[in-house]
This record gives sequence, C-alpha cells and structure tokens, in this order.
Amino acid sequence: MQSDIFTEDFKTEPYWWERTPRPDISAPPLPEKADVVIVGAGYTGLSAALVLARAGRSVLVFDAEDAGWGCSTRNGGQISRSVKPGYEQLTRRYGANTAFEIIREGSRALEWVEGFVASENIQCDFAVPGKFTGAHNPTQFEAMARAAKNQPEGLEEPLEVVTRAEQQRELGTDAYYGGIVNTSAASLDPAMFHQGMLQRVREAGVTVMTHCPVTEIEESAPGFRVKVPGGIVRARNVLVATNGYTGAESGWQRRRVIPIGSYVIATDAIPKGLMDRIMPTDRMLGDSRKVVYYYRPSPDRSRIVFGGRVSSSETDPLKSAPLLRQELIRLFPELSGVRVSHSWMGFVAYTFDTLAHVGCHENIHYAMGYCGSGVSMSGYLGMRVAQQMLGLKEGRTGFDVISFPSRPLYTGRPWFLSASVAFYRWRDGLNR
Ligand SMILES: Cc1cc2nc3c(=O)[nH]c(=O)nc-3n(C[C@H](O)[C@H](O)[C@H](O)COP(=O)(O)OP(=O)(O)OC[C@H]3O[C@@H](n4cnc5c(N)ncnc54)[C@H](O)[C@@H]3O)c2cc1C
Repeated sequence: MQSDIFTEDFKTEPYWWERTPRPDISAPPLPEKADVVIVGAGYTGLSAALVLARAGRSVLVFDAEDAGWGCSTRNGGQISRSVKPGYEQLTRRYGANTAFEIIREGSRALEWVEGFVASENIQCDFAVPGKFTGAHNPTQFEAMARAAKNQPEGLEEPLEVVTRAEQQRELGTDAYYGGIVNTSAASLDPAMFHQGMLQRVREAGVTVMTHCPVTEIEESAPGFRVKVPGGIVRARNVLVATNGYTGAESGWQRRRVIPIGSYVIATDAIPKGLMDRIMPTDRMLGDSRKVVYYYRPSPDRSRIVFGGRVSSSETDPLKSAPLLRQELIRLFPELSGVRVSHSWMGFVAYTFDTLAHVGCHENIHYAMGYCGSGVSMSGYLGMRVAQQMLGLKEGRTGFDVISFPSRPLYTGRPWFLSASVAFYRWRDGLNR
C-alpha cells in the first residue's frame, strides 16, 4: 500500500457516509405477515415501498445490511437521461415504436427524480448543472458531434458541442479532444437522497428491517413464505429489489444480472483556486470510453469524487485507489500532490442486453439491471413496479414488452468479466 497517498483519516467507505452516517434502525419484532415483502432497501425497494404504503398496503422491507448499504449510497450522484443502447440499435432489435418508448423512459426517470425531490422536500443537493463528456480520441469527438446534430426526432436532448479549443471553459485539461455538454444532466448527494427517501418511507408506515437477509422465497398459495434468520413471514406479494447484490434466493433474476464492481475515490480538500481552475463549473464529468471514468466536484466543491473500473477482476479499494488517483493526475497534472481520503466500491448490475428490466416472473415482481445508471431509473422503476403490483395502468413502461435475457450456463458469477473488460480497455486504447 502506497501510504503517502492516503490522508491520516483515510477510510475504505463512501465519502457520502461522512455527511450522512449510516441510519441506525432499531430492530422491530418480526411480523407474521405483510401485504408486500420487499427484498432490498435501496432506491428501488424504498420507492416501491412508498407507493404501496400510500395505497394502503402493509409493507415490510428487508435489507441484508444497513438500509442503502448497496449502490444507493455508493454511487457518483450523476443523473442523465441516457439509455444505452441508443435509438438506432434498439430500432434494429425491437422496431421503432418500442425503441422510442424505451428511450423515453430515460427522460421520464430524470423528470421523476426532479419532481420527487421537490414534492417530498428531500434535502440532497439536487441540482441541474449539466454534464461534460470528453472525447478520448478524435474519432470519438467526430462521432459525438455527428450524433448531437442527428438526434432522433422527438427524443432530442439539449446537447452542445465543445471543441478542443473551447474545452478549457469546461475543464482544466487538454487530455480530451473536445466533448459534448448535455445541459439537462442533474446531480445529487446519493446518501442524502437515500436518507430522505428512507424517512418518507418510514413516515408512511413501512417497516424496514436491516441486517436481516432474506434466505428463501417460497410460493405458498395464496402468496409467499419469506424466510429470514428470525423466522418466516407470509406475504401476498414479493418484490425483489437487490440489483447487483441479487443472490441465490432469487435464482431466476440472479441468472440475468451481471454484478460488476465500480470503484470510487474522494480526494482530500483541494484549495479553492485550484478547484476553480480544473473544474470551473459544477458539471458532472465523464469520458467517451467504453470502460468509462466518471467524476465530479463534491457538492460543496471542496473535493473531487472520481470513479471508474480500474481492474479487469474485482479488487480491494486499497488497490483501486492508487490507480484511480493516477488517472486523475493524468487528466490534471496540477493534482500531483493530492491525497485520497476515501476509497470504496459497489456492485452495479449489468444485463445481457444492457437494458433495465421490470416485471414479474412466477408471481415475483422485480426491477433491476440499471447498468451503472440507476440513480433516477431505479427509483422511477421502483414506483412503476409498485403501480404494476397495484394493478394500475400508470405502471406500464417501455421495458414491458422485452424479455429479460440470460445465457446458457450463466449462474450469476461472471467468469467472462476479466476478458470482456480487457477487450474493451484494449478497444478504448485504439484510435477509433
Ligand atoms: C460506485 C458506483 C457508482 C455509481 N454511480 C452512478 C451514477 O453516478 N449515476 C447513476 O445513475 N448510477 C450510478 N450507479 C448505479 C446506481 O447507484 C444503482 O443503479 C442504484 O443505486 C440501484 O439501486 P437499487 O435499490 O436497485 O440497488 P442497491 O442500492 O444496490 O440495493 C440493493 C440492496 O439489496 C440488499 N440485498 C441483497 N440481497 C439481499 C437479501 N437476500 N436480503 C435482503 N437484502 C438484500 C443489499 O444489501 C442492498 O442494500 C453507481 C453504482 C456504484 C456501485
């Protein structure tokens, strides 16, 4: 371990937990039954719980760890409308109408999060600063500029092309070949957002039981028997909201999501003048690589939160920290002396078609597979799946008509991941 790059109070946990310590929820006695059991207390599970409780259902949410311990308090807090793959590829796969409806869901999710934060009065530093995506080579810049000019009708995003000569107004680096600003992209503090949601959910009468893993979900008409270490709960409906942490208790879903580690560091406090030079705006930041780096100033602009996948296989945050810091310094050589105060990771859930999925299999509802872009989509689809459970037509989504694919012999352990990451990193390195 390169100890000189870490601050004295360095922690291998999210920087966001400094501002929002993990909630201490006293353990209530295990109820015998509930209308709905939700597995997972991240954004998906809590958003669904809120809709169901306000519709009069008794709701019990279990989390194996603290509430929000998964991605929902570990993420970068970047929110865009983007749904990948894009419109053309989706049209080839599903036809123009379905493609249109799927892409529209990205905008609806962004609108949902903005409306939700305002209507629920959640203090989470929500803002709409836009996002700058830097082109990592000239070919990518040309492709991005072309795509910005030829957006599909009805799905236009507010994009501005930034040439390399103009780039310093966005970012104090010459490492990119220009880029694109999407002025609709938003940002928030992920743990504050989760905390606000948790508060609303508990006010609505939902029971949240933490450090209580669901170990088995057994159908037993007219509902389910849900096993946890303390006993069994009978539930009419079950929602699986475990995303990148989906385990053997939901085997069908587990065979459809690919858990991939994403790694983040926060720097020590950076002098204001330097911060204003390298990040003159509050924009969210990222690049055009397939194995992407994403970063931003912290909401108070005191630090940089910098993330990406730095290793082909899963690794220790102590090992990922120097690699992320090295990339940060490559972009901003002025930061050569910067120290790292926090380093952490979390498992995002990729899917074989790189789309999110929401629906019901063998009477078990699910929403998951946000492919690393779930801050808005997870809460939005949590709301939609709850509406589906209530039999409301508002619950329909653009994803409803597509199947949730798996692959033969895939059981939930991505043995192919190292090779895929190595391949994409090699491709990112090519000048194309
Ligand atoms: C490092 C990182 C950076 C990211 N950055 C961004 C970003 O900038 N923008 C963006 O849009 N998205 C980002 N994401 C993705 C985003 O955070 C997720 O898509 C979103 O939080 C998913 O929410 P969720 O509620 O579905 O899952 P999670 O928040 O992961 O919650 C799942 C929960 O299920 C629990 N669980 C699992 N198994 C069981 C069980 N058997 N019993 C009980 N509980 C169980 C887990 O403990 C966990 O708390 C990032 C993710 C990571 C890890």
